[in-house]
Amino acid sequence: MLWLAFGPFHAMENQVLVIRIKIPNSGAVDWTVHSGPQLLFRDVLDVIGQVLPEATTTAFEYEDEDGDRITVRSDEEMEAMLSYYYSTVMEQQVNGQLIEPLQIFPRACKPPGERNIHGLKVNTRAGPSQHGSPAVPDSLPSNSLKKSSAELKKILANGQMNEQDIRYRDTLGHGNGGTVYKAYHVPSGKILAVKVILLDITLELQKQIMSELEILYKCDSSYIIGFYGAFFVENRISICTEFMDGGSLDVYRKIPEHVLGRIAIAVVKGLTYLWSLKILHRDVKPSNMLVNTRGQVKLCDFGVSTQLVNSIAKTYVGTNAYMAPERISGEQYGIHSDVWSLGISFMELALGRFPYPQPLQLLQCIVDEGHPFIMQFNDGNATVVSMWVCRALEERRNQQGPP
Ligand code: ATP
Ligand code: MG
Repeated sequence: MLWLAFGPFHAMENQVLVIRIKIPNSGAVDWTVHSGPQLLFRDVLDVIGQVLPEATTTAFEYEDEDGDRITVRSDEEMEAMLSYYYSTVMEQQVNGQLIEPLQIFPRACKPPGERNIHGLKVNTRAGPSQHGSPAVPDSLPSNSLKKSSAELKKILANGQMNEQDIRYRDTLGHGNGGTVYKAYHVPSGKILAVKVILLDITLELQKQIMSELEILYKCDSSYIIGFYGAFFVENRISICTEFMDGGSLDVYRKIPEHVLGRIAIAVVKGLTYLWSLKILHRDVKPSNMLVNTRGQVKLCDFGVSTQLVNSIAKTYVGTNAYMAPERISGEQYGIHSDVWSLGISFMELALGRFPYPQPLQLLQCIVDEGHPFIMQFNDGNATVVSMWVCRALEERRNQQGPP
């Protein structure tokens, strides 16, 4: 089977998508779609109907990276599936791997009878324009067009993402540094989050930022937001990342403990991953923790580019309420500073409000004087402790009875 006779990039550029329809107990049919981004849920059901005419298929499933099946029943869920699939394609491209077709599993099907393939626009591709009968692929071809991983990264970094290919949709939010948009990437059919930051800096600094951002291509963790590329247009940089349909945690009300516990684990794993790459996050706070309807939790906006952080800082006024005291007082920033921000963030998420009434005053107080808890009890009063120990020992003796 030569469904992959074209190189990895062609799949994105030509918007060609290969959907592998898995047939219960009898293999699969590859369907080549030339208008991936416009594909509707109905279209897929129609094709499944032609592949499995005797079955009544109302939904289908696909598999996520953990092998869990996710059901698709609507255009919206289709969009989520395609978005997920294109992110795996992107990953395969970055790693220089062969691009796997999108596998779907028709649901609630009766066992298939004779396949009615007449008029079916299924292309199993022996070549780019060949239309033939569906067949069951047995092995993937060796891809002579396979590019080296370094080469792919270079292509991705130099223009895979550009302004012309992006259609901005809704505004997801404004931050101190810029504005984040939900956007549509035309060649891949992927929904992105694009952060646009105005930066009046020299071309030299622009280049430095672009090279500093390169490390993001290497970040590969399910707890870190996926990075698709960045580019400058005039005096603004656009940073394209994975779109998270649940948004950031700052807009959620009090999060119940059994959920928050799981979120906390993901955030700690994300931070541990960054630290393992010698990256400090430097901006841990609920608005930089994103969630999606698949239950994933991912960190964003970590400071990989010193130059970018510095350039934004020039236009930034105010103090971040999540900042560790040593940071406020300009001392050295370390892992413990990220941990401080993590603690404040999780207190906020657990309480449903910022833990202190006047954060900045409190932090100033911590920098200058120490925590109120410390101040209250820093009186060297040993009597209180002594009385508590004596009483506890006495209670214990009474419980044990006479020797
Ligand atoms: P600050 O600029 O002080 O760090 P912030 O984190 O709220 O604040 P931005 O990073 O500009 O500001 O993000 C604005 C909003 O956009 C976020 O609060 C979040 O809700 C949303 N957002 C950011 N990235 C994504 C994404 N990848 N997917 C979905 N929503 C996002
Ligand atoms: Mg942010």
